[in-house]
Amino acid sequence: MSNLVNRQWTLANRPAAMVSTDDFKLAEAPVPDPADGQILVKITYVAFEPAMRGWMADNPGYMAAIPIGGVMRSMAAGEVVVSRHPDFKPGDKVSGMFGWQEYAVVDAKGALLPVQKLAPGVTEEMALSVLGITGLTAYFGMLDVGKPQPGDTVAVSGAAGATGSIAGQIAKIKGCRVIGIAGGADKCRWLTETAGFDAAIDYKSENVRKRLRELAPDGINVFYDNVGGEILEAALDNLAIGARITLCGAISGYNTGSVPQPPKNYMALILKSSSMAGFLLGQYAKRFGEASADLGAWVRDGKLKFAVDVQDGFENVPSTFLRLFHGQNLGKQLNRIG
Ligand code: NAP
Repeated sequence: MSNLVNRQWTLANRPAAMVSTDDFKLAEAPVPDPADGQILVKITYVAFEPAMRGWMADNPGYMAAIPIGGVMRSMAAGEVVVSRHPDFKPGDKVSGMFGWQEYAVVDAKGALLPVQKLAPGVTEEMALSVLGITGLTAYFGMLDVGKPQPGDTVAVSGAAGATGSIAGQIAKIKGCRVIGIAGGADKCRWLTETAGFDAAIDYKSENVRKRLRELAPDGINVFYDNVGGEILEAALDNLAIGARITLCGAISGYNTGSVPQPPKNYMALILKSSSMAGFLLGQYAKRFGEASADLGAWVRDGKLKFAVDVQDGFENVPSTFLRLFHGQNLGKQLNRIG
């Protein structure tokens, strides 16, 4: 069909510990014709999630490993160029699992997730952040797993990231007092001055266990954990009776090259009659509409702020991904390639 050449970032190696730009290779391939039911999308934004580090490993997980030489799998947004599906037409803005490439030919129903048409007024940045995977994760992880009640004290780790920043604000909307834990003074200032958190702890310069005790003398009712490791242990030592811990992620263990260790002080769950539960966003697929409606309304009403960290240039896609693991992003990490 077209003479279009697709630049693609493929997986070159399975990293043993910290992922690096050497683990990816730039490749070129012709853009195929879409078949019946498919669309051709010109990608304008690529989105990054820490889970992609897991998809690079050859471990059995909730999603198949990306094969060596395969295009890196990711959420992205773009514009339909050619459509062979009745629900899409050229010019439609869409989001989906398009990967690290300039063009994607995909089934509109989606092999993993259906392609979504962006509603009027929804930008690519919104569709990939507060209204995308991380916003939905924060919604279900906080509300369904954490079950915050008005007056509760809620603490969130990874609080200035895409998921944590939304999770904490949802708890505020539900009438809770919210403490964010994040790396660095700038992120902590953003949490209290822009995102409306009641307090923030800089885990890089403060003793988290001690600060939680000072800020929540009666204990934490909900702990939303994106980090695991020592921060989870600090929270376990500061639970209120009947607390709920939401295990959303454990990013402190993603690049260590060893299996994350369970918390040494898990006995706190017994002593405080508390519970700790993990979840995967995919479980909630049937309720995405309900969550999107709430998230969209909160954004429109100015109750929910979202930050995006947008890097530029297709050549910078791998280095943009690495920003997640060096704490360089505030809010959702994106790369604009259009
Ligand atoms: P994000 O929070 O926007 O970005 C990652 C942040 O993690 C970094 O900015 C950094 O913030 C922190 N971080 C990185 N390495 C760390 C380390 N070694 N120790 C402590 N903190 C570290 O990413 P996100 O997409 O919103 O994901 C957040 C978490 O949610 C991840 O654990 C992810 O796997 C999980 N998640 C789970 C689901 C699910 O279905 N359960 C779905 C989506 C995401 P600081 O500067 O504050 O360190």
